[in-house]
Amino acid sequence: MKRPAILLIYTGGTIGMRRNESGTLVPFDFNTIEQEIPAVRNLNVDIDVHKMPPIDSSNVTPARWSELARIIAENYDRYDGFVVLHGTDTMSYTASALSFMLENNTKPVVFTGSQIPMGILRTDGRENLITAIEIAAAKDEQGRARVPEVALYFQNRLFRANRTTKHSAEALSAFVSSNMAPLAEVGVNIVYNDMLIHRENDDTPLRISDNMSDNVMILKLFPGISQQTLRQVLAAEGLRGVILETFGTGNAPTADWFIEVLEEAIGRGIVVVNITQCQGGAVEMGLYETGRRLQSIGVVSGYDMTTEAAVTKLMWLLGKGEDAKLCAQNMATSLRGELSRS
Ligand code: ASP
Repeated sequence: MKRPAILLIYTGGTIGMRRNESGTLVPFDFNTIEQEIPAVRNLNVDIDVHKMPPIDSSNVTPARWSELARIIAENYDRYDGFVVLHGTDTMSYTASALSFMLENNTKPVVFTGSQIPMGILRTDGRENLITAIEIAAAKDEQGRARVPEVALYFQNRLFRANRTTKHSAEALSAFVSSNMAPLAEVGVNIVYNDMLIHRENDDTPLRISDNMSDNVMILKLFPGISQQTLRQVLAAEGLRGVILETFGTGNAPTADWFIEVLEEAIGRGIVVVNITQCQGGAVEMGLYETGRRLQSIGVVSGYDMTTEAAVTKLMWLLGKGEDAKLCAQNMATSLRGELSRS
């Protein structure tokens, strides 16, 4: 049987650093990956490497997401799967964005990285990389990709990418998916949770939709937020969408000025999406008066989406040219399994 072919796309981040002879951290040469990590040869996979100019992921922009989507689309027919090496800091944003931009994707696109550089003895990068390649190459009994969706692999767990958040700058298990169980757990064996894995109809060709609106913002509420600040923020020129990070199950102050300022913004066609500041759980605006008032003025429930998924989805929907009404409707609907209701 033909060996699976994987395209390894290197974008930068900690995983790409190794020590040279004098002990200095220098970029790792992924073109020589089989020499650097001989274990890769035992994977029985053909690996090609595409190097993007490496950057720290704090410098990522939507233009970079488009470039990545285009690299995948251009190589789509030639490879069985893709592994994207990315800095951990904004990996969940990029991976969420790609889950929306790649329409009708039926191939594994597995993001990974590391907390400790590849060239340090205790690196977590080697295991993350080897297992990510193995998962991207995995097939089921019918020869179909085992995980045909955009996923993120880190420290023994494979997650749906648009459900993840980087929760620790220290722990090797840097990512969590609080509202959805892992797609696979890795111990002695890789145990796939097939019931959760998303499968698009194989017959529809891949399409990329990579126009992302940057007229959006994330606004995190805190007790004491002033009327003036809120008013000025929502008056920003060109603003079209806001991810409002609220308290608990989607609650916010009931002060008249607060509701009025938001209502005015919604009246001007700005889409306001309610996301909880809590790491787990969902927005339920009907539960308390403090949430009900938001619902009554047309704030959209983001249900249990992560902030990363919500903001990239909003950028993508607005970038597609959707009007406020359709965009609001789609924000509350699961399009790529990013929220727990259909
Ligand atoms: N600052 C790095 C980045 O996100 C951190 C990492 O790769 O883990 O690019």
